[in-house]
Amino acid sequence: MLKASEHCCEEASPLSGSAYIPCNAPAVFMVKNRDPQPYRMCQACADHNVRNRGAKIIGPYKAEARPQKRGLQGIAAVKKRVKLKTEKDAAEAALKRITDEIAEIDPIVVEFFQRHGVDKETIDGVTVYLRRELWAGREENVDMPTACAALQEAGLPDYVEPRFNTNSLSAYARELDRQGTTIVEAHPALQGKIKISEVFKIGARG
Ligand SMILES: [Zn+2]
Repeated sequence: MLKASEHCCEEASPLSGSAYIPCNAPAVFMVKNRDPQPYRMCQACADHNVRNRGAKIIGPYKAEARPQKRGLQGIAAVKKRVKLKTEKDAAEAALKRITDEIAEIDPIVVEFFQRHGVDKETIDGVTVYLRRELWAGREENVDMPTACAALQEAGLPDYVEPRFNTNSLSAYARELDRQGTTIVEAHPALQGKIKISEVFKIGARG
């Protein structure tokens, strides 16, 4: 005999003839009729049973909490962490090898395209193509402040952004930390402007 799907209405569908076919709409109520055990039913079947069959809604249908898949605990988590570190190292090494090889071969591909006057080639459904990119940069022998001043003068100040170097400032803050002070103690003008965050991460060696 057919059974209603999990969390679905167990009432017989109007399609049922001599054989029971479950309604299978999402169950929302537990309903008790003449049978000894209650049934889970959808809104429409519950209404129908209450109105026309003297059944009673005895409560909402709640999916039983399924047991949570237990995550790794304790030393098993540490072992898994070690295994993942090994896998990550191997994957990164493979990625680096592939990236290096691509960098080596790209100039040869560019040369081929230019020599044959084509800008793309499809092989086995994968297309490699020539991509035109423009990059703005400083003229030879022009330093950064000079280039920035020229941009300001040209009415393009939006492209000049003063910024600080997070890496070197963090390195300085670590140095001060080793000396037993903080960057704000050493430079009170930074109070309320620069913050030092402490984070704890897991390192792995091997
Ligand atoms: Zn139903």
